[in-house]
Amino acid sequence: MASHLPGGADPSENRRVQRSQGFAEEVLNIIRSDIMSLRIPPDTRISIDHLARELGVSQTPIREALSMLEAMGLVTKRHYIGYCSAPQLNRKRLDELYEMRQLLEPYAARRTAQRMTPEMAETLRRLSGTMEPKNEVESYDQFAQLDAELHDAIAAGSGNDIIQESLSRLHAHFHIFRLRFHSEVTREAYLEHERLVNALTSGDADGAEQAMRDHIQKSYDRLLPFARD
Ligand SMILES: [Zn+2]
Repeated sequence: MASHLPGGADPSENRRVQRSQGFAEEVLNIIRSDIMSLRIPPDTRISIDHLARELGVSQTPIREALSMLEAMGLVTKRHYIGYCSAPQLNRKRLDELYEMRQLLEPYAARRTAQRMTPEMAETLRRLSGTMEPKNEVESYDQFAQLDAELHDAIAAGSGNDIIQESLSRLHAHFHIFRLRFHSEVTREAYLEHERLVNALTSGDADGAEQAMRDHIQKSYDRLLPFARD
């Protein structure tokens, strides 16, 4: 297994974190972004010492960030090795992930359409609007974050906490965007979200269920060529 040596990519790049309010969060965001963009490759040891030096912080915020990333499923802690970036999804995991999503998310979308309120509609429109390609979302992992928030808001709208928690525990969006990220993907996903949000906010239960099913199927089709066996 390779070892990650931060700072190897571009020596002129200054990644030192300023100590200020929210700096622990900034450390978390940097490492998360490194994992999402594959700057830290999958299945690779993450050196706490190197990251601390590179970011100019003590080991404590790095350890905290890594334990949060472990909860998000992006890093794993291994005996005698320490923290490692999670492996990329293989074909089996990808299939299982999408099977689970197809079981839960179209149903959640149907329920959410039936329970739609003006507040929910506004949240959904705001989230899908932020992902519009002209807004030039800063980074891949930010798009993943917004996609996760939109899907989570729909799951929450169903009113079924267990469905929402089960979907949230999959951390599907981080894994998906790590497998393949491309600007075409964001454009296509944006249009699919628009159709979905239109059906949801107009209280069209059948339309919302179908739009979610199609969105998940298309997302799977986009990823399939990139999953290894
Ligand atoms: Zn989506």
